[in-house]
Amino acid sequence: MIDLNELTIAKAHKHLVSGDFSAKEITESYLENIEEKNSDINAYLEIFDDATTQAEEADKIIKTKGKETSALTGIPLAVKDNILIKGRTASCGSKILEPYKASYDATAIKKLRESGAIFLGRANMDEFAMGSSTENSAFGPTKNPHDTSRVPGGSSGGAAAAVAMDGALAALGSDTGGSVRQPASFCGVVGFKPTYGAVSRYGLVAMASSFDQIGLLTKTVEDTEIVFNTIKGHDPLDSTSVKSSKSEIINHKSEIKIGVPSFLSQKDTPLEKDVLDNFNTSLNKLKELGCGIKEIELSSMEYSLPVYYIIMPAEVSSNLARFDGMRYGLRTEGEDLFADYAYTRGKGFGAEVRRRILLGTYVLSAGYHDAYYKKAVSVQNVIRKECENVFEDVDIIATPTSPTPAFKLGERVSDPVSMYLSDVLTVFANISGFPAISIPSGTVERDGKSLPLGLQFTASHFRENVLFDAGKKFETAQGM
Ligand code: GLN
Repeated sequence: MIDLNELTIAKAHKHLVSGDFSAKEITESYLENIEEKNSDINAYLEIFDDATTQAEEADKIIKTKGKETSALTGIPLAVKDNILIKGRTASCGSKILEPYKASYDATAIKKLRESGAIFLGRANMDEFAMGSSTENSAFGPTKNPHDTSRVPGGSSGGAAAAVAMDGALAALGSDTGGSVRQPASFCGVVGFKPTYGAVSRYGLVAMASSFDQIGLLTKTVEDTEIVFNTIKGHDPLDSTSVKSSKSEIINHKSEIKIGVPSFLSQKDTPLEKDVLDNFNTSLNKLKELGCGIKEIELSSMEYSLPVYYIIMPAEVSSNLARFDGMRYGLRTEGEDLFADYAYTRGKGFGAEVRRRILLGTYVLSAGYHDAYYKKAVSVQNVIRKECENVFEDVDIIATPTSPTPAFKLGERVSDPVSMYLSDVLTVFANISGFPAISIPSGTVERDGKSLPLGLQFTASHFRENVLFDAGKKFETAQGM
């Protein structure tokens, strides 16, 4: 029997190479576990019928390459339903794309395929990645494996739950405002968003193009590093991906300096009391590890959520204009062309997606463009500049990932603003393009259940290595 709970990518690789078990055996163990748990958790929307065949192919590679086998050969992964896999459905959790099949592989998928990774299936998500709970999926919510009356976070909730329930060794998600990090913190796994431009967006269905990045959900920081090293790099098919020379690792000094925004401990902190306590305990551990901790002022930070919720819908409204029933997916015919568009989009999109399209067209409309969109872009620049100044002084900004642990299913669905508030600590990384990681930092009790929390580290552009170094140190202190 393979102990899936104990397994990481790094460990599985060693076992595969030394012949302790085959890729087929690992894959079958995951498929069995998914079979048992997925009907309740709903982490996966589909399990691919060729998973075992992919594993057999991986076993052949391992046999010929032996010790030279790539770290991801034979490693079973889950893939968020907005990342294209050739020939497979990519519904983005939406009715409008339910019948859509991808005609090409996303660049990240292509790289993983070339390294011999196994794609187990499509992970559930909030429709078009809009949401913080996975309750906006057109195919039913995902439940949190730690407490099935609670949400797994979102929008990559299916991907996070898949890793947390031992339904995959790692998962690809997407992070536009926190969609990898927040579900990672709710589900007790590592969640990582690379620097904007570090990973190609080619084949990731666009939500807000200037913020979107493919991110990772894994069990350890080491595993994140392994997958990131495989998928990163310049891609001529994504003009915003960065030339490899720029993404070269910048070395940091031996002591990691950590900045803690002062607003976190102020009276009107957005954090629940025991989340703040957990954060302070984490900071003490980091201090014991020899990290320097320093209070920093980030006065513009409070504007990051409003800025995000203006620029993001503006881009959403423009990106989603392509779903009109003519080219992709669902088509509902009306009395004329205009009615075709209206019926298709009215029927195909869920309430949250329609809300954001309306908001986006409003903030971009002639009369309001200057007051909303233009102003938000100016404030975005102020926030970015302020953070860049902070990074002259510290290597990392530390915060909790989310102000609360996982909330109850249904608790926030009728109150969009309370849903948006769970992104209050994650969006600044997206609006400034910084890399950020969420690492499990312990648990708090709610209704007799232990719920995971996450510690978030954000670094300056292309300083992923600092995040990984600090993350591994923190994991050791946590006894992981
Ligand atoms: N929860 C945020 C939102 O609803 C972030 C989404 C994301 O990162 N895709 O927009």
